[in-house]
Amino acid sequence: MAKPKVQPGDHIADLVESLLGELGEDPSRQGLQATPIRVARALRELTDGYGVSAADVIAGAVFDQDYDEMVLVKDIPFYSLCEHHMLPFFGSCHVGYLPKGRVVGLSKIPRVVGVFAHRLQLQERMTKEIAEALSQALEPKGVGVVVEARHLCMEMRGVQKPGGQLITSCMLGTFRRDPRTRAEFLDLVRRN
Ligand SMILES: [Zn+2]
Repeated sequence: MAKPKVQPGDHIADLVESLLGELGEDPSRQGLQATPIRVARALRELTDGYGVSAADVIAGAVFDQDYDEMVLVKDIPFYSLCEHHMLPFFGSCHVGYLPKGRVVGLSKIPRVVGVFAHRLQLQERMTKEIAEALSQALEPKGVGVVVEARHLCMEMRGVQKPGGQLITSCMLGTFRRDPRTRAEFLDLVRRN
């Protein structure tokens, strides 16, 4: 991801300073003096997927290739913020596709995941956005995306037991239509 963009006088820092006061803190005490700027920097970094299009990330790394077996990138770690609480959800993403004459450089798939993860998100929507972005860029026979994640907004507030995972998936094209393709994908995802 790009370097966090915090301009001098970033308004987020002022807001965080007010927030600290609202929480009952003294924003001027030593340990908190640099906190507003640190939080601003962290938030800018964690949301630097805004203004980046997945198509731009992929462009330049799409190659004509006569390969028609499944391509799978497993265990892509990601960190995102839920749009309801702005608290982290994080885990692994597994992305597979069946090429139709075009493949993408493998390092680009984790970058596409990062572009969508670094926004305020819903896991369900992120899963779909990753699948649709690859589908549009590669026009493959099909795409499958599985995301497994822990949500701190649920765990820290006691809504869900710590360590519980939310699993979402999006299947497009043959991954949706053909049970064998879907089974092959899910089998590869589960295999250690
Ligand atoms: Zn939440």
